[in-house]
This record gives sequence, structure tokens and C-alpha cells, in this order.
Amino acid sequence: MSLAPIDHTHAPQLQSWIESANADGCDFPIQNLPWGRFREADSSEWRMGVAIGDQVLDLRRAGLLDHADPVQLLQLLPEDRLALRHRLVEGLSRGSPKAVRWATALRPLAQVRLGLPCTIGDYTDFYVGIHHATAVGRLFRPDNPLLPNYKWVPIGYHGRASTVTVSGTDFHRPCGQVMPAGAASPVVQPCARLDFELEMGLVVGRGNAQGRPVPIGEAEAHVVGLTLFNDWSARDIQAWEYQPLGPFLSKSFASTLSPWIVTLEALAPFRRGHARPEGDPALLPYLDSPVNREAGAIDVALDVWLDTAAMRAAGHAPQRISASNYADAAYWTAAQLVAHHTVNGCALNPGDLLGTGTLSGPGGREQAGSMLEISDGGKRPIELPGGERRTFLQDGDRVTFTGRCSRAGYRSIGFGSCSATVLPAVG
Ligand code: CA
Repeated sequence: MSLAPIDHTHAPQLQSWIESANADGCDFPIQNLPWGRFREADSSEWRMGVAIGDQVLDLRRAGLLDHADPVQLLQLLPEDRLALRHRLVEGLSRGSPKAVRWATALRPLAQVRLGLPCTIGDYTDFYVGIHHATAVGRLFRPDNPLLPNYKWVPIGYHGRASTVTVSGTDFHRPCGQVMPAGAASPVVQPCARLDFELEMGLVVGRGNAQGRPVPIGEAEAHVVGLTLFNDWSARDIQAWEYQPLGPFLSKSFASTLSPWIVTLEALAPFRRGHARPEGDPALLPYLDSPVNREAGAIDVALDVWLDTAAMRAAGHAPQRISASNYADAAYWTAAQLVAHHTVNGCALNPGDLLGTGTLSGPGGREQAGSMLEISDGGKRPIELPGGERRTFLQDGDRVTFTGRCSRAGYRSIGFGSCSATVLPAVG
């Protein structure tokens, strides 16, 4: 497995002629250049762009893309993705002769509508967060929280792509069948235990033919990059429906994706080794490679913010309710997920989305990626500014994820945000 290299495009002193990109703390400095899709106010046409500072560069208007189909971009070979990054950095660097022409291809982010970065064909959700799997397992099986397959198989299920929406798309509280404690039969009612799940989304670029597994050494060549992802979950519906086939309607009512794909090329400086704890079973060969051990993980700091309708009305800022990290939380890497997903010959296609699963850190409720863990199954509410308390989410609550990669000697890059508000149940 060869990873995207660290090169001159990651130099921390590199600056852009777009001044907003040079500001401290900017999510989208010239070292980032995430891919997304946008539409101008007077147009129904989606266009592929790259975020830079507070602007988006239209790839077609800049002469970098032949036609509007984002699949063309998703299917680029790793070397062509790298060449595109080099052209972008050359043209966006301070002093570039391309500045005059490319200035006409810029649009302010504040004036465009951002869409899903691509059409999501299929969506698979994994369960790589071992601290989450352990904490949730403990609620049901205190003596044996992790099921015996967990350290052998990257567990996943096939989710629903039709209700994956871009950040900022609010959704109604789902209704469904729940079994009240002690009742003889279930009832249909609005979900009373609505939750979020802090995840990252891997966007598939090039696909694989049916019947042709992707070896772990080639797996990352099939992944474009990472997004922030919220797998909203109806815990009471889930508890009643999940056995024996897993989650279904407790998940498929809404899932929220951030609009920007941070590419594996941009993430090159933030790779980390991926060690398995001592005593864990040895990996089966198709899930193991030296490169995956040395640099399979990606260090992304993740924050969860909550603000309620009452907090917004009173002028309170969103409260950070959890802080986690992808590399600390994940038992399986992106390359392992692709290798496992295709080991049976399953075909992945450009634009498929692989959710990681809930990325709770090892540090308990302050690092937990769901209200189920933060509130200890609904028993320990959190306090919010203005005196409100929460176990699960109420109508009007807005949950926002942010993500950032930082490392000494490199420019920090961000993921934008993944945010949506819970609307009341319909009917
Ligand atoms: Ca999930």
C-alpha cells in the first residue's frame, strides 16, 4: 500500500493570494483544498469546487475539469489526484500568474448553496469505534460487552442512501414501533430516545468490479477522502427492532454529511501508526499490511456541539459536549474497511459512502460519541447553559460536529461542519 506523500503542498509557510485562506484557524488554507459541490443562487446546476479560505474555486471555470459530472473527479487515479492538487496549489499560491484568470472562477462560500459532495449510491455503516462498542455492549451485557467476532471482523450493515443529506438539512423526529418497558405489546409513537452518532464518512472514488476483491495494499486508492458524518439514531425503535438483523428504521430516517471531502492527499501529514493492543487476535492476512500498521490511522480531532432552541433564544453559544479523535477511537482503518467490504466480491462504486461507526474516545463520557453513552443510557443528564438538562435530544436541538487535523510543523486543516436541527414529529 503506498500512501499519498507529504510534499511541497503541505509546507506550512505556503500562502494563497486569497487572503482569507491565510488567516489563523481557517479550516480551508491552501494546504487543505477539500472537494465539494455547490450551486449558485440563480442556478439549478451543481458544480464541483474546492474550498479555499471563505471562497470556493469552480473547477470547470478554472479549466481543471472537462464536464460537470463529479464521477469524473471521483474516479481519478491517485497519481492524477496528486497532479490536480499540485496544479491547484500552483495556481492558488501567492504570486501565481493564474490569479487573474482564476479570480473569475471564485465564488464566496456565503453566497452559494452547498450540496452533498456527490450522489451517494450505497451507504454502509461500520462499527469501528471499540470504546463505543464496549460501552454500548456493557449496557446490555455487563460481563461480556464485546461480542466474540469484534476483533476479527470489521462489523457493518447496509444503510440507506436515500436519506443521507447535506449539513444544514433539518429533519423531523421519526415515529416508529417501540416496546414500552413492561408492556405486553408495542406501540407506534414519536421516538423518545433520539440520539446522534459521531462518525466520519469515507467517500469511495474508483470502484471495483463485482467478484474482484480489493487487496488491502490497493484499498486507499479507492478512497477519495474523509467527511464528518452524523448517523442519527432512534434508540427506542432500535432496541425493539435490532435483533436478529441489526438496525433498520431506527437509522434510515436521516443521516447528515458535511459538504467537504478532505482528500487523503491533504491528510498525508496526519497519518498515525495503527497498533492492536497486546493480546488481541492476530489479523487475518487480508486485513494486514506493514503500511497499514505503520500509518493506517488518521489523526482527526473531533468535537460535538449542542445548542437548544432556548439557548439560541437566550443568546447562548453552542456548548461542546464531547471531544474525541478518529485515530484514538477506531479499531479498524479505512484500508481495512475497503478490503473487508470487498473480500466477498462485493462491488463498490464511485460515490459510495462508508460510515466508520461511532467514534467515542477511551476517556468516558467527555469523549463519548453519542448521548446514549454521555447520559449513561439516559440515567445521567448533562447540564446546559440556561439550566436545561438533556439525556436524549429534544425538538429544536441542533447538533454540530467539527473536525481538525493538527501536527507540529504543519498547517492545521479543518473539515467545516456537519450540523442539523431536530424538528417535531410529523402528525
Ligand atoms: Ca452508526
